[in-house]
Amino acid sequence: MTRHTEAASATDQLMVEARGVRKHYGQLEVLKGIDLEVRNGEVLCLVGPSGSGKSTFLRCINHLERLDGGTLRVNGHLVGFREHEGRLYELREKEVAAQRLDIGMVFQRFNLFPHMTALQNVMEAPVQVHREKPAAARERAMSLLERVGLADKSGAYPAMLSGGQQQRVAIARALAMRPRLMLFDEPTSALDPELVGEVLDVMRGLAADGMTMVVVTHEMGFAREVADTVVFMDGGVVVESGPPADVLGNPQHARTRSFLGKVL
Ligand code: ADP
Ligand code: MG
Repeated sequence: MTRHTEAASATDQLMVEARGVRKHYGQLEVLKGIDLEVRNGEVLCLVGPSGSGKSTFLRCINHLERLDGGTLRVNGHLVGFREHEGRLYELREKEVAAQRLDIGMVFQRFNLFPHMTALQNVMEAPVQVHREKPAAARERAMSLLERVGLADKSGAYPAMLSGGQQQRVAIARALAMRPRLMLFDEPTSALDPELVGEVLDVMRGLAADGMTMVVVTHEMGFAREVADTVVFMDGGVVVESGPPADVLGNPQHARTRSFLGKVL
């Protein structure tokens, strides 16, 4: 194998490749040049204090923000642009929407459709967006509800479910679109403490099945156990990153130690 093809195949295995990603809101510089990679099948936990830019970075990965600098590739696609014969063309809204179909996102607030049952919530996008046949979508939605431990709640409306159950439906709903990458933005932060474990268990299962995941979380036990890589962000920069045993177990920077002292 030549050096060139080795380099190419290494790039092929990257689900997310951020190079110098910058983002500002007016005068406020939120991302000051983020470099980060997520390999296929990897779980990356993004940790850091409030306001450090974690959610903004996830929004960039999910094509929800226009970058002010740097490049970001997700699943091989340059976010925001199409490359053709060496030139870049800004994507149209429809093309952005098509790229976003590869990505599932789960938020702190579950945002289920309140007038739909758990099953209908999970079936909705496959039927409406992917034009799947309702019978097939229903069968798959049932198997996804089973996967998140909620087969017996398929007919329940969100208001009848606990926060942990709603979040598990939200995960099933994201999985229904067959994403290649799952983004989680503090998925357990809005939950009562006794409901956190059931959501983390579902995420553990996804990781074990090989799903590529970027998880913003303050659950350091989860990060230590499940993450391949932990990235500590502060003030719009990556302060340090590496295996959890290093970043969480033996942090090299005072800022990391100070943050961990507060959350652990
Ligand atoms: P984190 O998720 O790490 O808490 P965020 O990415 O949400 O951080 O926010 C980083 C900074 O950017 C914060 O100071 C926040 O107030 C600011 N910010 C986020 N979104 C916007 C926006 N749409 N307009 C203006 N400022 C924003
Ligand atoms: Mg946030």
